[in-house]
Parts: sequence; structure tokens; C-alpha cells
Amino acid sequence: MTVHDLTVHELHDRLRGRELSAVELAEALFDRIEATDGTLGAYLAVCRDQGMEDARRADARLAAGDVSSKLLGIPVALKDVFLTEGVPTTCASKILGGFTPPYDGTAVRRLKEAGAVLLGKTNMDEFAMGSSTENSSFSITRNPWDLDHVPGGSSGGSAAAVAAGQCIAALGTDTGGSIRQPASFCGVVGLKPTYGRVSRYGVVAYASSLDQVGPMTRDVTDCALVLQAIAGHDPADSTSVDVPAPDYAAALTGGVKGLRIGVPREYFAAGLQPEVEQAVREGIGEMEKAGAVVTEVSLPRNDYAVAAYYVIAAAEASSNLARYDGMRYGPRAQAEDLTSTYMKSRAQGFGHEVKRRIMLGTYVLSAGYYDAYYLKAQKVRTLLKQDMESVLSGCDAIVTPTCPTTAFKLDELTHDPLQMYLSDILTISVNLAGLPALSLPCGFDHAGLPIGMQVIGRPFDEATILRLGYAFEQATDWHRRRPGT
Ligand code: GLN
Repeated sequence: MTVHDLTVHELHDRLRGRELSAVELAEALFDRIEATDGTLGAYLAVCRDQGMEDARRADARLAAGDVSSKLLGIPVALKDVFLTEGVPTTCASKILGGFTPPYDGTAVRRLKEAGAVLLGKTNMDEFAMGSSTENSSFSITRNPWDLDHVPGGSSGGSAAAVAAGQCIAALGTDTGGSIRQPASFCGVVGLKPTYGRVSRYGVVAYASSLDQVGPMTRDVTDCALVLQAIAGHDPADSTSVDVPAPDYAAALTGGVKGLRIGVPREYFAAGLQPEVEQAVREGIGEMEKAGAVVTEVSLPRNDYAVAAYYVIAAAEASSNLARYDGMRYGPRAQAEDLTSTYMKSRAQGFGHEVKRRIMLGTYVLSAGYYDAYYLKAQKVRTLLKQDMESVLSGCDAIVTPTCPTTAFKLDELTHDPLQMYLSDILTISVNLAGLPALSLPCGFDHAGLPIGMQVIGRPFDEATILRLGYAFEQATDWHRRRPGT
């Protein structure tokens, strides 16, 4: 295997043993991006000068004997939703054109303090709205396992980059599945932490009561290491919770004997690709062999999750996106008065899907409709949360498929937004309930596209789902497969 195919922990050992320098590693990754990104389109911006500077600093720390951080010298990519000092942040939207943030978001700052090397910013659906990265205003991203397929979304660029060896680890955000679904489609590990576990300061807001930042990596160990670096309370984000983060890497090896896994029958319903069902059931079998106790459970109201989510997420988005008015960020349209300037700037700056969400969100919040839609969706959210809590009071984790299907074809669903929304049916309840969930590679379909298995945990118990994921990885080798690109 070449260096770009290795994991964070493998590379840490090589850097530490001085078999490889951070500068050599960064150069290898930048060359890899240059050679492959014309085809894949995972990156919106590559910051070679800044990254090489980060790498030189990492080498200086290594030379001084500083090996405390496992991320020291590790090349990472960031979804273009994270504010990065001196590097443009677009959210894949024209409305943020020309915007260069004056500071780093907290998760970015923590990664940099840990010594990570920033390679660039990855493609995404505009403002994280979508499931295929096709809503990017700039370009499409291809799935490295089959270039005619989508990488998933909205963190599709990050997932494709991790899968294709264009970075070693990446950050994404997950509002309704945007870390887990692309992780599943690209055969990588993705974790959506508990709401409040990771600071959202310096992350462009989509739906503030649902958004979470999380790692996308090649294996569970790496996922634990990246989570460790970014988790924890941040006074700059009032929704970040002051619960101490345990040592996630140390918790991996505890074994899963006696852990109780619930398998919800409604998540294996009509519409599920048979190969996905088979791979996930086999995956559950592996956990059982490792000592977990498996029982069937019920989450009877999951059918309402998509509807409730698209009301709540759109409502919050319509409010969050009000700030893009051509005055504070991005290009300003020429018009005769202030109101027309706002209107024209927004009409020109936002893409179709974002406009659809703003209109839907404004509608469900408007007088006369608020009770019928927004308030009702909030009540459904409470019921879904209660269902999850009641199942999790009897088990340590819930295991399901991450998505009903493997990656769909480019352009297959772009003309059918409802069908696209339905691709989130198995990931959305987790966000509505604020829970942590992991997606793990667990097989391939007949066409060679990856399948993902979702492990949902109790609030702030990322350690247990990572432990289950680790036990699964010990028994299988899906996470070692790399695409041919
Ligand atoms: N696909 C969902 C949406 O479009 C989820 C996106 C996300 O998690 N950011 O809203």
C-alpha cells in the first residue's frame, strides 16, 4: 500500500519512527489530489502552500520529540462548510463567493492544534442541503468506486476524498445523514456525534437544532482519534455540552460481550435493497459472534421522520439563511433600492434546492400555517425521540442499514427531490433525537458499490458504538478495501 492508503494510526507510527516526514507525506497527498481530482472532483479548494507550512511545523514538533498527538502531521480535508482562516469558505454556494473567513471554527482550530495538516476544502451540496453533492453550485463529485455514481451527500467531497486516498481523514457535518450516508456510499467510516458533543462554532449553520460536526475516516480507530481531537465543551457554542470526553481510543478494545443490540424491524422494510439487508444482517451476526446479545425491537413511527425533518430543517434553514442578503458576504446585485438589492442578490446567489427549502421553511413558519406544520412537526419529533429513548433504555445500541440502497447514479434522482429526500429515511431520526450514530462499511453489492451499517448509541455514549464498530472490524476486512481509482 502507498502512503495515501494508510490510516491515521499507521501513519502516526511511521512519522513517530521517522520512517516518513510530515512534509513527504503532505507532498504525496497533494500529488495524489493533483493526479486524481480532475476526475473525482472531491475538492473545491486545495491549499498547498498553507498545507506544506503546516507539515513543516509538524516536522519541527516531531523533531523536538513531541509525539503526544496522534494527528500530528496527518493530512486532513474539511467540508467547505467550516470557516478556515485565510482559506475561502463557500458552502458550495455562489452567495458566499469571495468570502474568506477571518478565523477558524473551533473544530478546525482543535485539529490544527493537534498538528493536522490542512489539504483543502471539499465539495458538498449547497449549504449542506442534499444527499448526492449534485446540489453544489460549482461541480459534481464522483464516487471513487464507480465514477457514474454519486458519492452521497451532503459531505460527498469529504467521503470521496477519504475513500480515494486524497486525504487521510476528513470532517463533515450531519443534519439528517450527511456524514453517514456519504460514508456508506463511499465505503468509509463516518460518525455523527451526539448533539452538543462537538462545537458548531465557525460552522455555517443549516438547521441549528440538528447540525453536528463529525469525523470521516478509513477505520474506527481513526474515527476515535479524530473525535478525541474535536470533542468537548466550547464556551463559544452555547449548545455544546460540558460533558467530559472519555479516552475514545482506549475504550475501543473493551470487547462487546453482553452488550445488547436492538434491531428495529421497521428499518428492514419495503424499499430496502436486498443486498443491503443481507450485508447488514450478516454484520449483526458478526457482532453476535463477538458476544453481543441481539434482540428485535420496534421504532413504529419512523415513517413520519422524513416529513417532520423536512419541515423543521427547512424552517430553521429559512431563518439561518436570511443573513445572506448581498450586504455582508458575497456578491451584491445591482438594483434600484435596498429591497430589490436583497431580492436580486438572493435570487442570483442561491441555487434551486436552497430556494425550495427557504420557501418551504418560510411557509411552515407563517401565521396560519405554523400550528399545522411547524408545531406538528415538533410534536412528531418529540414522539420519535421518545421511541428511540424507550428502545435505548433496554439496549446499548441499535443497528440498522445506513441507507436503503447503495449509491445511485449521477442524475438519477435530481429531477425527483422527494425520492432524494427518502434516501435519508434511516438516518434522520437520529438527528431529530440528538443521538450519536456511526456508519461502517459492511459489504458490497453486485456492482461493487459499498454498503454501510449504522450503529446508533445513547446520548454521549460514542464510546460504546465505537467499541461495537471496532469489534466488527476485528472480525471483517471491509474497511481495508480501497477503490481502484
Ligand atoms: N439530505 C438531508 C437534507 O438535504 C440531510 C443533509 C444533511 O445532513 N446536511 O437536508
